Parts: sequence; structure tokens; C-alpha cells
Amino acid sequence: MRVYFRNAKDNKHICLEEFRFAARFMYLLLVSEREHDKTTLHVNFSSLKRTLHGAAISIGDEKYPKKFAIVINHKLKRKGQLLTLAHELVHCKQYSRSQLRHVFDRKIKDYRLQFETKVYNEERVSYWDLPWEVEAHGREYGLYHRYEHFRKQYGLFPQRKTPTLRKRRGPSGQLRHGRGKSRG
Ligand SMILES: [Zn+2]
Repeated sequence: MRVYFRNAKDNKHICLEEFRFAARFMYLLLVSEREHDKTTLHVNFSSLKRTLHGAAISIGDEKYPKKFAIVINHKLKRKGQLLTLAHELVHCKQYSRSQLRHVFDRKIKDYRLQFETKVYNEERVSYWDLPWEVEAHGREYGLYHRYEHFRKQYGLFPQRKTPTLRKRRGPSGQLRHGRGKSRG
């Protein structure tokens, strides 16, 4: 899988090398090696509202698309970003098999999402009942967990322990927190 990044310099929580590796690892748990090799993924790190973790779309209008763009909220910490990556990759898998696709509805003159054989009205069905979300939420943790297990087993991308909130003196002599939300 080819993986391209946008706005990567804004991401302070995970290094790109690891993100690319994790994307490939997790996608191989979802699709065949052949399918994986044909896939291109564009990752856009973006500043979204806290409640919005990410999004996925397919590029082009083939029945079985192989190019995808995902958005990852770079405000999320490493674990949150990896869980979001796993979630969005499940949607990529759904698009690539045409399980999930956009269909034009002439009545409303707009697109709706179809999953398997059924077209859904997202205004009438709760997000949590949409079958493509049920699958993505159901699989995200397992994909993340297996990635973490593999990474630790082979000592890849060692993580520093999360620093405990300790205070140190900044250049101006004022107390500053070692890490955290407050910057400057
Ligand atoms: Zn989703």
C-alpha cells in the first residue's frame, strides 16, 4: 500500500514512519496481500473538533475503488490516532469491496450511502446503528491491539513513557509544565 501524507508537520503525537507502518500492518489484517498492494492511501492530518476523530472517502468512481483519502484529527494523542486509523481503514475495506458505496437518489437529487443491498437515510438512523459504523467500531480496537502487540514483540518504534506532570523553570523564570496543553 502506498501511503502519502498531507499536513504531516502539524502532527506532534506520532511519527510518520510509524503511522505508515501501522496503516500497512492493519490494512493487511483487513484485505488480501494482492488487494493491499494495489491500494493507495492519502492521509490528511487536520485539526478537527475534539468529537470528530476522522473520516474516509474513496477516490474515483470505480465499483471497487483502490484509492482512498482519510482525515485524522491530529489533536488526538498517539493511541487515539491509531484507533482512528484502524476505524477509517475498515471503511476503506468496505468501499474497496463495494459493501459501502454512494448511490444517487433521484428523489432527493443527492447521494445516499448504501451498505450491502440497503440504502440508508442517515438522518433517520442513529450513527451507532449504521452497519458500516458498527463494523468499524467493532474492529478498530482489535486492529490497534494486534498492531501494538506486534510492535512490542519486535521492539519497533519504542515509546517513551508518558511524562508525569512535572514542573520546570522556563527561560523567563516562570514555572512551566513539562508538557501539556499550555504552550507559551
Ligand atoms: Zn466511521
